[in-house]
Amino acid sequence: MSSLNSLPVCTLGTPRIGPRRELKSALEAYWSGRISATQLLDTAAGLRAANWARQHALGVSVIPSNDFSLYDHVLDTSVMVGAIPEVYGWSGGPVSLDTYFSMARGSHGDQDNACAHGHHHDHDHGAPAQEMTKWFDTNYHYMVPEFVAGQRFMLASTKAVDEFREAKALGYRTRPVLLGPVTFLKLGKSKDPSLDPLSLIGGLLPVYVDVLRRLSASDADWVQIDEPCLVLDLDEASRQALQQTYAMFARALPNLNIMLTTYFGGIGDNLDTTLSLPVAGLHIDLVRAPDQLDSVIDKAPKGLVLSLGVIDGRNIWRSDLYAILDRLESVVSRRGTDHVQIASSCSLLHSPIDLDLENDLDSELRSWLSFAVQKMDELATLGAALAAGRTSVKSKLDTSAAAAASRKESPRVHDALVAKRMAAITPDMARRRSAFPARAEVQHSRFSLPAFPTTTIGSFPQTSEVRQARSAHAKGNLTDDQYVAFLKEETARTVHWQEEIGLDVLVHGEFERNDMVQYFGERLSGFAFTKHGWVQSYGSRCVRPPILFGDVSRPKPMTVSWWSYAQSLTKRPMKGMLTGPVTILNWSFVRDDIPHSEACRQIALAIRDEVLDLEQAGAAMIQIDEAALREGLPLRKGEWASYLDWAVDCFRLTSSGVGDKTQIHTHMCYSEFNDIIDAIAAMDADVISIETSRSKMELLDAFRSYRYPNEIGPGVYDIHSPRIPVVSEMVDLLTLARKRLKDGQIWVNPDCGLKTRKWEEVRPALENMVAAARAVRSIEIETGR
Ligand code: GLN
Ligand code: ZN
Repeated sequence: MSSLNSLPVCTLGTPRIGPRRELKSALEAYWSGRISATQLLDTAAGLRAANWARQHALGVSVIPSNDFSLYDHVLDTSVMVGAIPEVYGWSGGPVSLDTYFSMARGSHGDQDNACAHGHHHDHDHGAPAQEMTKWFDTNYHYMVPEFVAGQRFMLASTKAVDEFREAKALGYRTRPVLLGPVTFLKLGKSKDPSLDPLSLIGGLLPVYVDVLRRLSASDADWVQIDEPCLVLDLDEASRQALQQTYAMFARALPNLNIMLTTYFGGIGDNLDTTLSLPVAGLHIDLVRAPDQLDSVIDKAPKGLVLSLGVIDGRNIWRSDLYAILDRLESVVSRRGTDHVQIASSCSLLHSPIDLDLENDLDSELRSWLSFAVQKMDELATLGAALAAGRTSVKSKLDTSAAAAASRKESPRVHDALVAKRMAAITPDMARRRSAFPARAEVQHSRFSLPAFPTTTIGSFPQTSEVRQARSAHAKGNLTDDQYVAFLKEETARTVHWQEEIGLDVLVHGEFERNDMVQYFGERLSGFAFTKHGWVQSYGSRCVRPPILFGDVSRPKPMTVSWWSYAQSLTKRPMKGMLTGPVTILNWSFVRDDIPHSEACRQIALAIRDEVLDLEQAGAAMIQIDEAALREGLPLRKGEWASYLDWAVDCFRLTSSGVGDKTQIHTHMCYSEFNDIIDAIAAMDADVISIETSRSKMELLDAFRSYRYPNEIGPGVYDIHSPRIPVVSEMVDLLTLARKRLKDGQIWVNPDCGLKTRKWEEVRPALENMVAAARAVRSIEIETGR
């Protein structure tokens, strides 16, 4: 596999969507009936061939296959092993595209009921899509495998073998990728809570062995098996399952080499287990966990091939290659060139594809960046330098060093004023003047709202007119004045309508915002945006995260004029509407030269400025959304506390500059609070709105047992579905909420923003919601506390 003048160089996986999102277009054309299955499959084959050819051309010598997927590789694995729930009507034999896409999107192609950042929801008719959730701590979402008691597994797809052969026919002997059986089971779920998916391992392994045999028979000499569960906290049962699995593979296929890959973190306390597994190679993530290199080298058996993940597969920075060489040269000389491979930290699936498409970025900023294609070149450069010496690729190494030096020095990255403000932060800046009970008193007399006040989360429908106006403005076909006039009209109509139906606390509707993070990123210094920097979020959906490259500051107010305009239209309270620092950070590509906590604190200071300007302009209520706070939680529980510490502190730094009479709201679109309820309470928002409607208010149990002191708006209807909730069901939900909370704590609102809905759905739904609140106000019950 290795040649004399380079170490083996590998990517672990490549982006599937295509440089111009060709796969997205083909999938959506196929789903809407505009192209045939053959056309879709041809496009897919073309993308695979292009990926192989590109890697080969750039000097990647260990090229993966079966890293491609039409939708999701976890779904592919469920299909491979025949874990296809009964509702999809599969009765053995090859799995049709229809069945596959029903699992992905529901039998009615319901994925459009997912909200902007990828939440996925069941719908009412036909077979629902499989549940979807985040892949470890990335923004990629996978389809959750579903198992039943007595689950049988059988080989139902030979995709892994087919794609290996397809590559071979094109002249590439690839290293096929499989999701490891232990990680696969651990990612899965059963409706029957007494079934532990891991207990199914014995039945699953024969299918894997079958696939491995077929690969081996097709001439594969190495297989990459991904077990990212090795970077999680593992119990004894998981460790045993790993041992059972790899012992069985070694017995069944003594001549097939397995590269066992771990990524997204350090192996930590699983190292002994990992090194006891009878595999030929081990991949470690040295970007997320650089410190594990020494312990792995110390303990790894001599014959084990180590794949060193040194190029960041999760971020967009060009590496300082000399710094990497300084670390690796001694490792290579100790272990031998035939026992080391150079790799990306994880699959490049999580990187945008090609920096060369970004003609609008200035050349300095571009020199600091590296997307998947550029990372392949960096890998090849490292491989050459380690085998044939630094001088063999001197000019490439020097270019990388020059970029690193310019980034280190650039005044665009390092702003002395920001440093000065950061140094001047004092603990009292993150503390409201009075404790909640005193604030609540002041606020209640200021607002004199009815019991169970009604409000919404912020956005109103982003209709096609709104989107068209935005793109016409971006293209220069609408002048600034025309665009602003249009937005004002939308805002005014929305404000008046909210008043008419009797909502108590209003919002302006967010029509001027393309996205809740991008809008702010575009107005803050330190952020840049790409044209084609798409990363797959789920299926055909991609996101283009902002690039946080420098110190953050706010040159001028970002939302005040919109708020002032909206408030001028009504006497009722109009909420100021902001995205919080943790969410902005978690949905961006972030700097790797300062800690996340520091970058977040800079954003917090900038949003704090906006909060204070809103208050100054007269805003009495300000909502600071932290939709992504929970998803930033580290993979290992032991690291949660320190993350939550700075995350909560950043929120408080953002929100605490205001006086007692200003009411701070926050919104979170998820429903698991049990394990982070202390942190949620520590945020000390006066009012929090959350997602609860689908769990029938069960999550409020966390708030009850903790005795959450502040006010809460438990979402009373699911905005992710087009269904219009009737009054009685919302009354019922509120009645459940009253059993868990004091009446005085409860607000009435939908469970998220309304931007993905249509006005025809929003109008009756909110009218019913107001009616439900009114009904509840007249029902006396014993409260739960
Ligand atoms: N204010 C935002 C909206 O309503 C919040 C959205 C979110 O949390 N995802 O759209
Ligand atoms: Zn939400």
